[in-house]
Amino acid sequence: MARRLRRLGARKPADLDAADELLDQIRRKRTDATNYRERSLERHGLICARCAREFSRKDRHLLTVHHKDGNHDNNPADGSNWENLCVYCHDDEHSRKLLGRYYSEGE
Ligand SMILES: [Zn+2]
Ligand SMILES: [Zn+2]
Repeated sequence: MARRLRRLGARKPADLDAADELLDQIRRKRTDATNYRERSLERHGLICARCAREFSRKDRHLLTVHHKDGNHDNNPADGSNWENLCVYCHDDEHSRKLLGRYYSEGE
């Protein structure tokens, strides 16, 4: 859209374009980081890796993504740091490992 505006001769200063682009980059990065849940569910399926409980589209919100190394910023594209766990198993995982950070950090 921005590109089309430019071609039509919109009176947008060049530095504003650059700022727009920067914003775009930031937005894209944030989407990457927050999208890992969808990507993990897609990659590993709607099933809990621990108790093998299966989920449907209707109750998929009960399925969460656990970071194996505990680092929520570590989201390799191959999904190797993700584990789909139902909320019960996830809670158990964290209380056993005494991490407990998952919920306080809001996923
Ligand atoms: Zn489970
Ligand atoms: Zn976790």
